[in-house]
Amino acid sequence: MDVCHIEVEGAVTKYIFITGGVMSGLGKGMVTCSVGKMLQVRGLRVDAVKIDPYLNVDAGTMNPYIHGEVYVLDDGYEADMDLGAYERFLGLRLTRWNNITTGQIYQEVIRKERAGEYLGVCVQIIPHITDEIKRRIRLVAERSRPDVLLVECGGTVGDIEGLPFLEAFRQMRLEERPGDTLLIHVTLVPVLKAVGELKTKPTQHSVRELREIGLQPDIIVARCEEGVVDGEARRKIALYSNVEEGAVFTSYNVDPIYRLPEALDKQGMGDLLCRYLGLGSRRPDWGEWRRIVESFIKTRGVVRIAMCGKYAHLADCYVSVNEALKHAGAACGARVEIDWIETEVFEEDPGRTEDLGDYDGVLVPGGFGVRGTEGKIRAIQYARERDLPFLGICFGFQLAVVEFARHVLGLEDAHSTECDPETENPVIDLLPEQRGIRELGGTMRLGLHEIEVEEGTLAHRLYGATRIYERHRHRYEVNPEYWGVLEEGGLVFSGKSPDGRRKEILELPDKYFFFATQFHPEFRSRPGKPDPAYYGFIKAALDRKKGRQRPEFGVVRV
Ligand code: GLN
Repeated sequence: MDVCHIEVEGAVTKYIFITGGVMSGLGKGMVTCSVGKMLQVRGLRVDAVKIDPYLNVDAGTMNPYIHGEVYVLDDGYEADMDLGAYERFLGLRLTRWNNITTGQIYQEVIRKERAGEYLGVCVQIIPHITDEIKRRIRLVAERSRPDVLLVECGGTVGDIEGLPFLEAFRQMRLEERPGDTLLIHVTLVPVLKAVGELKTKPTQHSVRELREIGLQPDIIVARCEEGVVDGEARRKIALYSNVEEGAVFTSYNVDPIYRLPEALDKQGMGDLLCRYLGLGSRRPDWGEWRRIVESFIKTRGVVRIAMCGKYAHLADCYVSVNEALKHAGAACGARVEIDWIETEVFEEDPGRTEDLGDYDGVLVPGGFGVRGTEGKIRAIQYARERDLPFLGICFGFQLAVVEFARHVLGLEDAHSTECDPETENPVIDLLPEQRGIRELGGTMRLGLHEIEVEEGTLAHRLYGATRIYERHRHRYEVNPEYWGVLEEGGLVFSGKSPDGRRKEILELPDKYFFFATQFHPEFRSRPGKPDPAYYGFIKAALDRKKGRQRPEFGVVRV
């Protein structure tokens, strides 16, 4: 680390701003990640900031159903899911400073106003809000001193909420040295099926909207589902957007998504980025990344996983879980097919749990609240009784304890007090320090915590270590009053907090693979470096399918 620090000492961080036009959902985050990757493979150090123009201070209080998954960072910050994409693509370990929301900006400006720091001044959006935005962006550059800082603004150009951020970009482009900033605008190029023609008008309009607020893009990335935008359409986009023709690139459909960086680089984007930012001509070394991408493509077998949860039909709610499963699959040479099952169906018709027999493994992910809970418990019971590989994450871990207490120990009304505050057998209960908490934002047990892994257990085999660090997001935990009976009944708690006050991992040693964690291992899974819990689960599902007597894990840390 120190060596890097000395090398970059005195060097200036360059900024790449990324905006989006026409509509949301164009994969702006993926373009941001790809830009970062193109720079990384050219030996440059990058960092990334996501701007979320909503008024929430962080994503922690938002419904994943509307906003997508809440992604947890090492420091416990509850972030927009794009930060997960940055971490996975770029191998970064981000902090709360890498996410800026309107809520945070206003909170700080109002705090300063109350503290009298603007005494005598009328506090305004320009310059006070925009100054605070610029300060926050530059703070990230000062902290990590990257060669290039990527700054992605969420939403679409024209949104009222985004305006102060775009104004801050405009000012920064003026304040930084010429050539030290770049603006990439991501737009949509739709195809009208009837005429089979690529339509450039939406792009023209969104660029005009940008220019009205004083921002001239340097590069256009057109999202086009039909392939590369070239010829007349490309010329038109360049002309109307006032950019070089060679600065119009296409983000077309690629599978897996990890192919996008090279797909853009092949169009000349990486070289152009370096030329525009005066970073010299640098040869990309795609070797390692290509090996990772190929591991997703060159799969032999298939494993089918039943993801039993709430909001199951919305893939965005469980992005990190889905990705972690795919990383694990790639490491085992298997393609993972995931079916999302809304567990309320098991409540309405208990016979439907038999459908789980069609799968190679059952996963119950994190969750909150009572809806669908009984169905999740049924799914866990099915997996345990039929010896289907099972992985439980956070709420899935807690419900595995409930299921065991009910059906193995015979404590019929056992439950978590989150779902049934009146239960006679609160096997899962609030953490003592959670009892007095009234505010709900950022108050869970969050972020990286140390875990002691018991030697000789499945957890120890998987993690290959007796001390691990994993990310958390929960208010409830296994009630210490029930540890004894649960363990006597055969449940093994193979991971605990070093102070011995909390259980973190459970397993059933006589099962093929029955494993659950109070933490969220998916947040630390990376392509090419799958998390051991997910790896173990997929490997077991695959081995059981092949008819092996026991799963053969081999070396797990890939
Ligand atoms: N609702 C549970 C708790 O708060 C589990 C949380 C989760 O799955 N992230 O402890």
